[in-house]
Amino acid sequence: MDFEVVIGLEVHVQLRTESKIFCTCSTTFGAPPNTHTCPVCLGMPGVLPVLNKKVVDYALRMAIATNCRCNPLSQFARKNYFYPDLPKGYQISQYELPLAEHGWIEIDVGEGETRRIGITRIHLEEDAGKLIHDESRPVSYVDLNRTGVPLIEIVSEPDIRAPEEANAYLRKLRQLVRYLGVSDGNMEEGSLRCDANISLRPRGREEFGTKAELKNMNSFKHVQKALEYEVRRQTALLMDGKEVVQETRLWDPAKGITKAMRGKEEAHDYRYFPDPDLVPVEVSKDWLEEVEKDLPELPDARRRRFQEEYGLPFYDADVLTASKALADYYEACVKGFPNPKIVSNWVMVELLRLLKQDARDISQCPVSPDALVQLLKLVDDGTISGKIAKMVLEECYQSGKMPREVVEEKNLVQMSDESALQEVVDKVLSAFPKEVEKYRAGKKKVLGFLVGQVMKETKGQANPQKVNEILRKVLDG
Ligand code: ADP
Ligand code: ZN
Ligand code: MG
Repeated sequence: MDFEVVIGLEVHVQLRTESKIFCTCSTTFGAPPNTHTCPVCLGMPGVLPVLNKKVVDYALRMAIATNCRCNPLSQFARKNYFYPDLPKGYQISQYELPLAEHGWIEIDVGEGETRRIGITRIHLEEDAGKLIHDESRPVSYVDLNRTGVPLIEIVSEPDIRAPEEANAYLRKLRQLVRYLGVSDGNMEEGSLRCDANISLRPRGREEFGTKAELKNMNSFKHVQKALEYEVRRQTALLMDGKEVVQETRLWDPAKGITKAMRGKEEAHDYRYFPDPDLVPVEVSKDWLEEVEKDLPELPDARRRRFQEEYGLPFYDADVLTASKALADYYEACVKGFPNPKIVSNWVMVELLRLLKQDARDISQCPVSPDALVQLLKLVDDGTISGKIAKMVLEECYQSGKMPREVVEEKNLVQMSDESALQEVVDKVLSAFPKEVEKYRAGKKKVLGFLVGQVMKETKGQANPQKVNEILRKVLDG
């Protein structure tokens, strides 16, 4: 039987505000344990949480960018459960009235093709603390620096149809939170976390099958692998006439399998109720408009504009708009050197290669847009050859110098002077009489060899076009 895969993702994004969601404690990562805490985030009795407005601002940015409808009134709710990393005995979250609902994003499913994935809701909540297990002794420690760090939870509709699509969806979310500057979106460091729900159904049937929920994947690759494993596991069960059990399963990255962790908890297990300490969140039209006005151009729109305005192929536009910083860099270069495709080639091929070698981000690039523009102008006006320019770029990248400086220091100016070139050509021709003979006998391909010799003689500095012309004149004339 042929099964269709159905996936829905629940993604938690840590918002990078300076202070926590309900107190003024710092959210800075890496401080000594329990130093970023106060009576509010420690859950002491008698204190009151106060909502950080910036958290709502950031969440609204994401809600607008994912085409959600923002509710004018939303409400915090207590989600009750016991765990040692949760000092209050409940997590402040949103339940019946979330901040935003009914959105969608487009994911990329092949060259220029997209598919729309529904967003059920985006709600606000606080993070829990962190347990640290001692490997050598049977004890655990708790660090509450993370309690009260702001999160948004983004719940997708069960619209995803394959593990690769789940991967594409997560990439899109990460790209968005980074463009919007609301999170660093780093999955390995836990600022983006994903629970994946997956079920199978016979192809053509409308009704969904029983799902399993997968946890503990801390990279894009692991999400995809866990889902792929789960497709195989559930397919085997159903083929055998058995049933999928609704449960939470843990991904074991070492073994490459998922393991049953616990039965599925239901909403009523959490005894959700509106938090009496917090007034409802009111989002006025003015507030929404203000947030919307400040949004940067979003990645999909920017990619489309790069294709239209600069005439770039999809591939180039996609690579260059991967991050806001890279797209900004590219556009700064095009302003100074208005040949979009040439700039694209240099940024995409040469610059990204250098950056990749050092695992650097474009924001750490030692070559400024001004420097790259200067380099391209030096090639354009014939001062240096394209080949020399690659060398100069590398030198600029290593030293942080401007291209003109490097060209002058290393005396790399291209030889275009006719009489100087004529001299070298004469020298080469007398050194290779056999090749000259062959050329004159009709083997025109030898010309390439002779050009190469002149280039070699001038250490790559001869203007190859000029060399070609002079050689032809002498040989044909
Ligand atoms: P629960 O009641 O278990 O919390 P929800 O309906 O709230 O389930 O959905 C949680 C997540 O699971 C959502 O992302 C949703 O898209 C996804 N989901 C729901 N049903 C299925 C299913 N049958 N197969 C795969 N994913 C599903
Ligand atoms: Zn605090
Ligand atoms: Mg649910």
